[in-house]
Amino acid sequence: MAEEKQYDLLIVGAGPVGCVVAERAARLKGWRSLIIEKRNHIAGNCYDRYHESGVLIHQYGPHYFRTNKKELFDYLSEFTGWIPGNYIVKSSTRGELFPFPINLKTLEQFFGRTFTAEEAEAFLEEIRIKKDHIDNSEDFVLSRVGKEMYEAFYLGYTLKQWEKHPRELNKSVCGRIPIRFNRDERYVDHDYQFTPDKGFTELFTRMTDHELIDIRLETDFESIRGEITPRIATLYSGPVDAYFNYQLGKLPWRSLDFTFTEYPEEYVQPCVQINYPNDHPYTRSVEIKHVTQQKSPNTVVSYEVPVSEGDPYYPIPADANAELYQQYKVLADEENRKNKVYFTGRLARYTYINTDEAIEMALDTINEIIRDAEEG
Ligand code: UDP
Repeated sequence: MAEEKQYDLLIVGAGPVGCVVAERAARLKGWRSLIIEKRNHIAGNCYDRYHESGVLIHQYGPHYFRTNKKELFDYLSEFTGWIPGNYIVKSSTRGELFPFPINLKTLEQFFGRTFTAEEAEAFLEEIRIKKDHIDNSEDFVLSRVGKEMYEAFYLGYTLKQWEKHPRELNKSVCGRIPIRFNRDERYVDHDYQFTPDKGFTELFTRMTDHELIDIRLETDFESIRGEITPRIATLYSGPVDAYFNYQLGKLPWRSLDFTFTEYPEEYVQPCVQINYPNDHPYTRSVEIKHVTQQKSPNTVVSYEVPVSEGDPYYPIPADANAELYQQYKVLADEENRKNKVYFTGRLARYTYINTDEAIEMALDTINEIIRDAEEG
């Protein structure tokens, strides 16, 4: 089809990465993009929608947007207003709900005594298990909070989430969670913690609402492979192993199953997320209304069960997987040189990143594409 040959960019995947690259290409360079997307909607795993009950839900798990970068926040502000991110999580363990991440309040409730910051530091110094090298997630947690809290808050959750022992996972996995010597109960530490006032789907819809951007939903990359040759480059944001037909073997991914339950009450949880390290098959229950601040007489809670089959959600941060990815990266780099295919995002780079980091990666990639195109 002659018309299709005129696309400057072919973009595989309409998640945050694909949307950002198409938007920047259109507005910075006047380039025309075709985005193809396997699912029947844009926004990737940030996708939110109205549940049958009328309550806005995060279809693929909670997305707590945060960043430390003002430029990134300002860029996204072109497409959305914001409301403050009310990201409060509690952990249900030993029959009680504890503030999580661990902070002074958690320590006080867990050990039944009061702590100043200095007392808490001295106390943890006594109970922590000292390690010369922090090689994995178990070492990381034991060396900070000791065995009792490791077992109460981390071990069971991690086993359920990954079907792996924390010992087999990079320290960065449990290292995502801060441990605090103050009474700050927010889930994350970042400077900007905001959620889009009309949701993520609306944000990415506005971002891609441009005459130079076409989107084809329910279109698998395989079905158009080789048929559309973009003038400048291809941006691929799908799983890197799938692109290469799994020729080096499958990269392991972790997937999730969600059950959404409606309740005829305004709220049923005290905060957006409750973690269950040691009970239930699900890892967490999420009542996203606490974050979206939607006014509604009823509510919806999602229950999240990690599974090994299904859509890829998480790369599994372990050494053997990183090695296999590095082998795929060699192929990806070659494909970049030969055919101007750029691999970007959580799935294409097999990396456990948050939405802000994926967007940053997309911004870096479009700059790289522009630079390469200008250099010929
Ligand atoms: N984690 C844990 N207990 C918890 C919450 C998290 O042990 O109550 C560990 C677990 O290994 C998890 C990791 O910390 O996979 C990162 O948690 P986070 O909430 O950042 O995960 P995400 O929201 O990306 O699924």
